[in-house]
Parts: sequence; C-alpha cells; structure tokens
Amino acid sequence: MKKTDVLIIGGGPCGLASAIGASSQGAKVTVLERANRLGGILNQCIHNGFGLHIFNEELTGPEYAHRWEERVAQCENVDINTGAFCEELNLLKNGSFYVCASSEKGLLEYEAKSVVLALGCREKPAGSILLGGSRPAGVFTAGCAQRLINIDGKKVGKRVVILGSGDIGLIMARRLICEGAEVVGIYEIMPQSGGLVRNITQCVKDFNIPLHLSTTVTRVVGQKRVEGVYVAPVNERLQPILELEKFVPCDTLLLSVGLIPENEIASDLGLEWNNVTNSFTVDEYYQTTQKGVFCAGNVLHVNDMVDNVSNEGESAGKNAGLFALKGLDTQNKIEITHDEHIKYTAPKYVYNTGNGTVKISFRVDKNYKRTLISAISGGQEISKRPAPAVTAGEMQTLIIDKSKIVNDLHLQITVLD
Ligand SMILES: Cc1cc2nc3c(=O)[nH]c(=O)nc-3n(C[C@H](O)[C@H](O)[C@H](O)COP(=O)(O)OP(=O)(O)OC[C@H]3O[C@@H](n4cnc5c(N)ncnc54)[C@H](O)[C@@H]3O)c2cc1C
Repeated sequence: MKKTDVLIIGGGPCGLASAIGASSQGAKVTVLERANRLGGILNQCIHNGFGLHIFNEELTGPEYAHRWEERVAQCENVDINTGAFCEELNLLKNGSFYVCASSEKGLLEYEAKSVVLALGCREKPAGSILLGGSRPAGVFTAGCAQRLINIDGKKVGKRVVILGSGDIGLIMARRLICEGAEVVGIYEIMPQSGGLVRNITQCVKDFNIPLHLSTTVTRVVGQKRVEGVYVAPVNERLQPILELEKFVPCDTLLLSVGLIPENEIASDLGLEWNNVTNSFTVDEYYQTTQKGVFCAGNVLHVNDMVDNVSNEGESAGKNAGLFALKGLDTQNKIEITHDEHIKYTAPKYVYNTGNGTVKISFRVDKNYKRTLISAISGGQEISKRPAPAVTAGEMQTLIIDKSKIVNDLHLQITVLD
C-alpha cells in the first residue's frame, strides 16, 4: 500500500485546483481520476464562458482545464493517476484513510493522511422525476447529449423538446440549433428558470427558442423512437393541470432536471448531511464533520461558475495539506444560521479564531428584484451588500471579516422590492 499525505478523488477543475493547494503546503499529493484524461465535465463543454474571474478571459471548457493542467504540471510532489476508478474510502484505526481504486494497472491502494472529495455530479435520469409514458430511443439527459455531440461527433435528433431550464439544458438548446436541429421548446416546471441570466439571454432569447415556465412534460409517446411528448401547465403545487395537456410532436427529449452529487463513496463515514444540497456539510476549511475529509466543487453543491469551483478546490486542497502536515485550528466552532429566503450556506460552520476573512456561498429560494444581503453577529450587522436582481439560479456570496464574529453568525436577506 502506497502512502501519501493528501489523496484527491476526482481530476476535474476542483481536483486540479486542490492538487495545487495541497502541493503549495509541501504535501505529497495523489490524484485519482476515473476518466482517461483530466478536466472532468469541462472536456465536453466546448462553448466559451469559463474563466472570466480567474483569467479575465472567456475560455472554452477544454482551454480552462488545460490551463489548470499546466499549473499542476509545475507543482512538486503531485502524482496523477488517470483511468483509476475510486471504489472505497475508509477510516483506519490510526486516523488515516484507506483509499482503493481499480485501474488498468490493477488495484491501487493508498494510505492517506487526508482526503479531498472532488467527484463532481451526475445528472438526474428520467426515473428520478416520475416521467410517464413509454421509454423509446430518443430520451437523453442533456449532458449525455452534449457528450455525444461534442466528443463523439454524433447527432441526437432533429426535432427536440427540452425538459428543465438549468444551465446544461439552456446551453444544449443553443448547441442543437447550431447543429441544425429544431428546438421546439424548453419546458420548466418552476415559475422561473434555474439557469444563469446570461445563458437565458445568449442561449434562448438570442435564438428565439420558446421557454415555457410553470409547464412540464407529463408523458413520452413512441414505440421504437420518441414520436412526441404531452406537456401541461402546473398549478401552484407543481401538479400538472391535465385538462390543459397538449401533444407536442418531436423525435427527441432532453432532460435537464438537476444534478446529483457523486458522494456515495463517503457514505459509510457517517458525515453530517444537508438535505438541500444532497451532500455533506463543511466548515470554513471545506472539511466535513470527519476530520481529514474535505469536500469541494460540485460534489459539495452545484456551482454555476467554474471559477468558484477552482477557488473552493484550491482552498480545500491547501487545508487538506495543512491538516496532513501541521493540523488546523478548529476551536470555537460556530454554526451559521440563516433566514427562510436562503436555502443553505457553504460552509455551514466557521471558527471564531479572530483573523482573516471567510467567504460564504449560498442560494436563495426564488428570484428577487432588489435585496440587501447581510450578516449579523452579537446583535450587530458585521457585513452587508446590496444585491439587485438575485435569482434562484445564481449562487450568491458574502465575505465576512472574521474578527467581527462574536459567538453566533446569522445570514439574512432583506427584500426591498
Ligand atoms: C453542461 C455544462 C455547462 C457549463 N457551463 C459553464 C460555463 O459556461 N461557465 C462556467 O463557469 N461553468 C460552467 N459549468 C460549470 C462547471 O463546469 C462545473 O461547475 C465544474 O466543472 C465542476 O467541477 P468539479 O471538479 O467539481 O466536477 P467535475 O468537472 O464533474 O469533475 C469531477 C471529476 O471526478 C471524477 N470522478 C467521479 N467519480 C470518481 C471516482 N469514483 N473515482 C475517480 N474519479 C471520479 C470524474 O470523472 C470527473 O473528472 C458548466 C457545467 C456543465 C455540466
């Protein structure tokens, strides 16, 4: 069994940045990636829009990933293993972790002082949304269609309906038009799109694709291939109004109905869980409730900006390195509370250690026109920022000066109009 200080599971943007963070602390780092190349989901995202914050440029997904691969290549003590599917993660009696991966070279076994979970997400399939009707060929998740078109060079269909308006669905709507397909419409069950405003503008409005809010697909029709779908508006409880159901002919249905964090590998460790993110809770070091296990990027919470993923990953890796070599200061743990407009916060815990700043990421429950986001501690407002047009689809952040935190920390949104 090989020994390492920090073992990173996943070689996407989060894992790559984690490797840099851990190496910057002098740690011996191992990265395990199941695919045959690094870069994660970015390899199939050939559109631009990546790296605006970190590189101040609009890069494509593969370009962005390549920049980070170059950075990792310059780091000392980083051992990259692609084609290595991580299958087991256990806590050993001595406080280290046992990690095992299957690869073409055989079983890879490691003992690591700390672990970073950077496994990303997978897409929700048709079975998870109780979609009625038959299951002919022509029903794809949006990311699967993206991979088939952008990597394998295949065509997925000619007349397409998209269910769900998250970013992947919006980006695929534009991609399909560019590939010569007709996108009949995007149907979204919620009263607002789950995607970024820029994607609604650039991928939907600019291409005159109809976006039907508060509407869902009720049934798929077809024997061998999709022949059409039934759609219906929904009531305030999100139930389809079947009297208003109508048939939409199409040969393809793309599902963009949410992502599931790939965190099953750590399910035996008994980590504290968050029902909103469907993942673990973390503290300001991106450490889970199991000391030495860190979690960042899409496996922690679905991010809309890859720059944020890289920042989280670098921070998690740095802290995992510090944990392995020196230890972390985890005295005076404070739970971050929040009001009903905020769905969750990452991190959930901070430490009252006095110095530095902490960035809190969160999502709101619905769209608001004008708000004030603030943090309260010891009865005093310690941080605030006005936020015009806060949307449910966009992650929000607030930076807090830790020296102002007393014994509690509460995040709130004041709706101005
Ligand atoms: C279609 C689409 C379009 C997007 N467009 C934009 C955009 O325009 N701009 C932007 O900023 N962001 C965009 N994003 C968001 C951004 O790409 C993601 O937030 C980011 O890639 C997440 O990085 P990650 O490293 O957490 O996960 P991933 O990129 O998913 O990487 C996770 C890695 O872990 C590996 N892995 C999983 N399980 C195992 C295992 N058991 N063993 C070993 N390895 C494993 C996977 O193979 C993968 O390589 C987009 C995302 C998608 C899906």
